[in-house]
Amino acid sequence: MDNMKFIDEELSKLKESGLYNTIRTISDELSSTTIVNGKKVLDMCTNNYLGLANKKELKEAAKEMIDKYGVGPAAVRSIAGTTDKHLELEKKLAEFKHVEATIHLQSGFCANLGVIPTLVGEDDLIFSDELNHASIIDGCRLSKASIIRFNHADPKDLENKLKEYNSKNCRKLIITDGVFSMDGDIAPLADLTEVAKKHGCMIYVDDAHGEGVLGTNGAGIVDHFKLHGIVDVEVGTLSKAFGIVGGFAAGSNKLIEYLKQKVRPFLFSSSVTLADVGAAIKAVDILKSSSSLVEKLWDNARYFQSKMKESGFDIGKTQTPITPVILGDVKIAREFSSKLFEKGIFAQAIGYPTVPIGKARIRVMVHAVHSKEDLDYAIKVFKEIGKELNIIK
Ligand SMILES: *Cc1c(COP(=O)(O)O)cnc(C)c1O
Repeated sequence: MDNMKFIDEELSKLKESGLYNTIRTISDELSSTTIVNGKKVLDMCTNNYLGLANKKELKEAAKEMIDKYGVGPAAVRSIAGTTDKHLELEKKLAEFKHVEATIHLQSGFCANLGVIPTLVGEDDLIFSDELNHASIIDGCRLSKASIIRFNHADPKDLENKLKEYNSKNCRKLIITDGVFSMDGDIAPLADLTEVAKKHGCMIYVDDAHGEGVLGTNGAGIVDHFKLHGIVDVEVGTLSKAFGIVGGFAAGSNKLIEYLKQKVRPFLFSSSVTLADVGAAIKAVDILKSSSSLVEKLWDNARYFQSKMKESGFDIGKTQTPITPVILGDVKIAREFSSKLFEKGIFAQAIGYPTVPIGKARIRVMVHAVHSKEDLDYAIKVFKEIGKELNIIK
């Protein structure tokens, strides 16, 4: 008896249903272009919004850290001690986010898994946007709290659901993505926060796609809505606009003091390397000193999106540089994506179950480092393929 036969069955199911994912190989640094499966392509796929992933100053900062501290931390921070550089990064991130304090963690995913279960437990309630990221969903499950989903970006529905539980006396946490990564829309955080405060709930936002994108100098969604000191918990990542790897949570001194005692990935897992920390410190410095990268990102996004709309493409309800080009059927989206790739454009097709059936799309990530020529070329190719596949006239 093959006691792992189920794996063969699961794998064939994935292949039959078209959900099997063949992962591409990247063999060059990420700039406006990169090399994917041996082919040089324009990168319109990664989350390298600001082009920081290969920025010279970040590379140099990372190398300096390796020379001074070596390559690995060799223990968890709460046992063997934390480096001065980790503390410096936490302080810089706090200034950047306009909060009292932050705790640096290994990734955004880890941050949600670690932080949510410190805030609510078995007898408590979580009100979660129905389209929240997988790491939020998993963090909520780990907490063992009861999870009540509210309609996407709908403060009225949230309030109605809260009213149903009015008589229940327990901790209540409202949790939402800041920017939703498949549609590029922004959570109505001001309204959600108002509802939260009215009902005595905690409010928690995951700003993974907002940092480096929204707010002054890319400070994120809380800055965008000017809700400083009102939103209780922010979670962020250093792996998207920051171009590195790592995550963090941000809030009051009290919150962060508590998280440093309680978050399990902080207590039981080693931190990221000093190279990552050094690069992150440099990234914050760059963002704080100038808004030019963030402005360039938005200029590029507005330009690309207006041209795509003019050409007749449906780009949904995006409010950010994330540009969904909605095509309908997943087979068409895949065909479109491979035609783009043939013409040197790397942009991912996304279908069910990540987005609803019939809403398959190409998700185009516009970056600050794309030149006008890059964008014009992409628009031209999109139009050609769009006509060929009868998507546009
Ligand atoms: C990407 C993403 C994460 C995970 O961040 P990592 O640092 O890559 O682990 C968490 N939450 C949201 C909303 C994301 O988009």
